[in-house]
Amino acid sequence: MKYIDIHAHLNFPDRYPDLEELAEKTSDDSVAVINIGTGEETSKRAVELANQYDHMYAIVGLHPIYASPSYATENIEAFDFGYYRELLETSDKIVGVGECGFDYYHCDDEAKQLQETAFRAQLEFAGENNLPVMLHIRSSEGTYDAYEDTLEMIREYKEKFPNLIGDVHFFAGTVEIAQAFLDLGFYISFTGVITFAPMYRELVEMVPMDRTMSETDSPYVAPKPFRGERNEPSHVREVVKKIAEIKNLDEDIVAEQIMENAQKLFGI
Ligand SMILES: [Zn+2]
Repeated sequence: MKYIDIHAHLNFPDRYPDLEELAEKTSDDSVAVINIGTGEETSKRAVELANQYDHMYAIVGLHPIYASPSYATENIEAFDFGYYRELLETSDKIVGVGECGFDYYHCDDEAKQLQETAFRAQLEFAGENNLPVMLHIRSSEGTYDAYEDTLEMIREYKEKFPNLIGDVHFFAGTVEIAQAFLDLGFYISFTGVITFAPMYRELVEMVPMDRTMSETDSPYVAPKPFRGERNEPSHVREVVKKIAEIKNLDEDIVAEQIMENAQKLFGI
C-alpha cells in the first residue's frame, strides 16, 4: 500500500452499506486503513474488518462522548478491561487504543469526570499492553482546555509507562500545543480540513515530516473537491497532496514517509 488513512470509521454500521465495494476500491487505490472504535460495538466491528481485509487494521476503545452523557448520545459505556482484553486475543491486527481523550464541547463537570475515568482506564490499558493511543481532543469553545488537560494526563502516565506514545487525531490546537505533544514523542495527524481551512497551514509547516500522519476521519470532513459528500479512505490522497504542497515536498516522498511513520508507531 502506498497511502495510509490512520483514522477512519468504516466500522460505523449505518454509514457504509456498500462496505465491500468500498473496501475493494480502497485496496485498488493502494490505501491502507485503520478503523477506530468508539465503544464496544464499533471496536468489535473494527476488529472484524481488520480480520477480513489485509489492508485494514483496528484501534479499539471508548470515545469520550460515549463515556459521558453528551451532545451526541445518552447511551454511555464504562471502559471494561475484560471486554477489551478478550478482544485483543481475537486479532493480531489491533494496533492501538482509542479513540480516547477529552471532548469538552457542551460538557458539564459530571461528564468531564466520567471522561477522565474512561481516559485513565485506557491509558492504563495501553501502557499494560504496550500499545499506542489514538487521542481525540476537543476543547470548549474559544479555549484549549481539553488540550491542556490531556497533556497533563499524558505526562502523568508517562511516569508509569515511559514508552507511552500515540497520535493526536484531528489536531486543532496551537503551534505551542503541537510542540508539547511532539516533545512527549507523539505524532500529529491531519484530516481533509487542511485542504480548505487556511488556519492549518502553519501547523502543517511546523510538524516535522517524521511525526506527520494522514487521516480522513471518514465518514466526516471530506476534503476538497469532495466537500459535503460522505468521506472515504481513498480521499486521504488529497490530504497527502496538501501536506506535500504546504511543505513544498514531492507527494510520493510524503506518502512514503507517512507510511514509514505509521509502520513505526503502529507496528504494521
Ligand atoms: Zn474518530
